[in-house]
Amino acid sequence: MASQEIETLTGALSRLPGLGPRSARRAVLWLIKRRDTALVQLLDALGAVQGALIECDVCGNIDTTTPCGICTDPRRDARQLCVVEEVADLWALDRARLFTGKYHVLGGRLSALDGVRPEDLTIEALLTRASSGTDEVVLAMNATLEGQTTAHYIAERLEACPVRVTQLAHGLPVGGELDYLDEGTLAQAIRARRPVG
Ligand SMILES: [Zn+2]
Repeated sequence: MASQEIETLTGALSRLPGLGPRSARRAVLWLIKRRDTALVQLLDALGAVQGALIECDVCGNIDTTTPCGICTDPRRDARQLCVVEEVADLWALDRARLFTGKYHVLGGRLSALDGVRPEDLTIEALLTRASSGTDEVVLAMNATLEGQTTAHYIAERLEACPVRVTQLAHGLPVGGELDYLDEGTLAQAIRARRPVG
């Protein structure tokens, strides 16, 4: 029988995406064997994340300041807005370094199955941002059914705003999630983006 402390830590780690109970237990044992090195580093890193990271009030990015580093970067073109589902997608696109505008994180995707409705996402805030000072809104949803449903819905809502609405090119594999794509594929999808409708 493992101690209660180990059970609790294993339980907490096994809730992480991609980690089941088995790999969580392996990770715990690995950390215990390295309690003076890797465990200390992990504790420091977790403490830093908890203490320093916040959600940007403007775009939804995670950073140490709000507005975040991207929102306040004067080299970025505020007239271009790239809409993504999750912060991980923003980071994936930004790693490709081909989009020089700003971002808007929806906080998920519309899903009848999971009960995610338009009011659960930051769509109203997006419409406000798109209503002034924005020329182009790039819809960069995942190439999944729910991602595309979300893109359609937002494109319709944006018809009331004086902006050009584009979406990533069809180079995206069906079912493709941005976070898993290589930078070349992402770069091509951004470069070849096309008008919606
Ligand atoms: Zn921001």
